[in-house]
Amino acid sequence: MLSFNPSEVRIPNSHFIGGIAVDGGTGIDVKRPSDNQSYASVPNATPDLVDQAVENAYRAFKESGWADLSPRDRAKAMKRWANLIENDVNTLAQLESVGSTRPISAAVNWDVPFCAEGIRFYAEYADKCGGEVIPTQSDHLGMTITEPLGVVGAIAPWNFPLVMASWKVAPAIAAGNAVVLKPSEMTPFSVVRLAELAVEAGIPSGIFNVIQGDGLVGDTLARHPMISKVTFTGSTHTGALVMTACAQSGTKPVTLELGGKSPQLVFDDIKDIDKVARRIAGAITTNSGQVCVAGSRLLVQSGVAEQLIERISSVFEEQIAQSTWQDQATLSPIISAKEVDRIDSVVRKTVEEGANLYTGGCPLETADSSAFYKPTILTDVDMSMGVVRNEIFGPVLCVETFETDDDALSLASHPSYGLSAGVHTADLNRAMRMVKSLDAGTVWVNRYGRSWDFAIPTGGFKSSGIGKDLGRQAYEANRRVKSVLIDFSE
Ligand code: NAD
Repeated sequence: MLSFNPSEVRIPNSHFIGGIAVDGGTGIDVKRPSDNQSYASVPNATPDLVDQAVENAYRAFKESGWADLSPRDRAKAMKRWANLIENDVNTLAQLESVGSTRPISAAVNWDVPFCAEGIRFYAEYADKCGGEVIPTQSDHLGMTITEPLGVVGAIAPWNFPLVMASWKVAPAIAAGNAVVLKPSEMTPFSVVRLAELAVEAGIPSGIFNVIQGDGLVGDTLARHPMISKVTFTGSTHTGALVMTACAQSGTKPVTLELGGKSPQLVFDDIKDIDKVARRIAGAITTNSGQVCVAGSRLLVQSGVAEQLIERISSVFEEQIAQSTWQDQATLSPIISAKEVDRIDSVVRKTVEEGANLYTGGCPLETADSSAFYKPTILTDVDMSMGVVRNEIFGPVLCVETFETDDDALSLASHPSYGLSAGVHTADLNRAMRMVKSLDAGTVWVNRYGRSWDFAIPTGGFKSSGIGKDLGRQAYEANRRVKSVLIDFSE
């Protein structure tokens, strides 16, 4: 029985600097997405507090010995941290569920263990990536050595607070850096527990700090002169601001994981239409579509379109909309009442523009909440409509049909986004042609969504981002490369 009383959860509503909880800054009211109730206030950091966090992190980087520890010892500490996270699953999952859109069963079975395993994955990298010996004259030795960058500023979104934070923090810490993380002001608390557990695991105080606050705090962090790199996940609009801030304050390297509008291409040779319907439905209802890689554009070959849409619509009916602290809940609430209104107005406008509302199209009222949106299907849409072009971040599936492979590719192409795509076909040659032609940082074939293969990097093309989270690439992006040439001829 995973259900719990949200009022009984202890909320760590502070910053976390140098290994201890720190107060300071005026409070921002934080609401539970499930019922729109205020449940805590988070301190909005002043510039002085941002300074304090970054200086503390820099001191820990220089003096704690973390960067100079043998890589295997860094790995051991991080593995202890991952174990503590798994042992603390109930506390972490409840914190995540109270304050975010993650149903408790998902938080227990996915968010927390996925976060722990990601940390373990990067722990294992600590002693496996080094420099190279470079061919040069026989009385010279040419090589590259790698070293940590210093203090990494990490800025995270609200949609998967623990997992998104771990993708930023784990490779940076494994690589020997110190981190100052700013979570979203809408979901600020679970990562404080994550940082407490890092200290308990033996990672030196000050190596993992959390600074709370809004976008201005994020901007101050990104511009801080002692920050060596910024890793950001969030919207494309904010990503551009972060990149500007980094350019204006020392040409810092950035990793940007941004928005998407991902196509799902379904061909009429699919073998099991029910299975594909479930996959397509899952890709737009998981976290109620509040996922960067939500498969929000269904492109389906006309021969199978009617049948597929009908089945997706019946899978939608299986979703259970309940507060995130109920263990039967499967459909996530929308992050805020304002976002429910925004999604609804986009759908209504699209219908006024001539789209056909196949199912859904309105908020979903439950006994104690109006925080949900009915999974929605819109047909008769095209790229001229905002609903097809823009990220909606809600459970809204737009459907277009095609006849030929070329039509499918032309519909799949998006003017700015290139995050991910799904291809569903029984024809391997066709699948490979699609993989090669699609302008997307990740292509899933006959599946959709992430696996536990942390070695597969994720990141977008075009306005969907720069650089990668996960994989070897994220580890390497947290170390700098120094070139060395030694003349031993004398
Ligand atoms: P957001 O851009 O509004 O905010 C993200 C973070 O940036 C928050 O912590 C926010 O406080 C901070 N911020 C706001 N203004 C800032 C500024 N000027 N300088 C520095 N920091 C600032 O995004 P969101 O609404 O929290 O998250 C949803 C977005 O994140 C969606 O677009 C989604 O696609 C994207 N996302 C992308 C990925 C990916 O891997 N590509 C993963 C998850 C979410």
